[in-house]
Amino acid sequence: MKYCILSRDFEESNKIKEYIKLNLKHEYNNNNPDIVIAIGGDGTIIKAAHEYPKAILFGIHTGHLGFYANYLVNDVDLLINDINTNNYNIEEYSLLQAEFVSKNGTVTNDFALNEVTISSPLRTLTLDVYIDDHFLEKYRGTGLCISTPSGSTAYNKSLHGAIVDNLVNVIQLTEIAGINSNAYRTISSPMVLSDKRRIKLEVEAKTYQETSDLFITADHVSYPVKELKTLYIFLSDKKLKMASHDKKNFMDRITRTFLVSKE
Ligand code: NAP
Repeated sequence: MKYCILSRDFEESNKIKEYIKLNLKHEYNNNNPDIVIAIGGDGTIIKAAHEYPKAILFGIHTGHLGFYANYLVNDVDLLINDINTNNYNIEEYSLLQAEFVSKNGTVTNDFALNEVTISSPLRTLTLDVYIDDHFLEKYRGTGLCISTPSGSTAYNKSLHGAIVDNLVNVIQLTEIAGINSNAYRTISSPMVLSDKRRIKLEVEAKTYQETSDLFITADHVSYPVKELKTLYIFLSDKKLKMASHDKKNFMDRITRTFLVSKE
């Protein structure tokens, strides 16, 4: 069994990293590890997920929120014991798959644990939105955010999207400042779609001629796109494995993250 540790470059995180390395019985190896321990906030865990999507992730929370992290700083000995005795619970998280096709046919793929967004912060973005093969609308505005259930509490929540229970496997489509007037009409409400749906977004030719700053993001990874033609987004067959000492309750996670203030 191989493991590695990713940590925020803070003194506290680095001390925890050294302590774990002294006490874990397994081989430390960055190359294809079975287990990855991420020390930091959700941002650190998401980066670990992108670097090692096949590994079992253990998150130690030193950040502000800790929606994904299942161990606190005080639980480090518990985490070491859980790994040494191979005694932990695994929760699977849905991932979004994004496929972007450029005008010349080049296809780029990435995946997201929280969300995929497409946006044009400076100029209005015009997109034809399809759900499967059904044309839904001509969207005009800053952009769109497509989130997983676990990502529903991230950017999606700031856009007034719904918080999705982790027992439901759906895709959520939320607008980023959609324009609604007598001239332009969008659905406006966040849409919660079945896990079987595929979202297809087509960029109007005029947009990529006029919009110099069109961005696609997959979590923290951002792609400046010059000549995007179509973006497909759907739930991946692959899931991310996140470990915890005992099964975590979704409602506890929501309360801990959003309602109970830190003293
Ligand atoms: P980041 O610092 O990694 O994340 C931004 C904030 O969102 C942090 O406070 C982070 O918690 C929290 N967070 C991440 N995933 C979460 C989740 N599933 N539920 C609840 N809170 C969550 O920022 P970044 O490096 O730019 O990474 C990109 C992420 O930022 C994206 O995935 C997106 O969700 C988020 N974002 C949010 C907004 C917004 O809300 N207006 C705009 C753009 C991007 P920690 O402090 O524990 O790391």
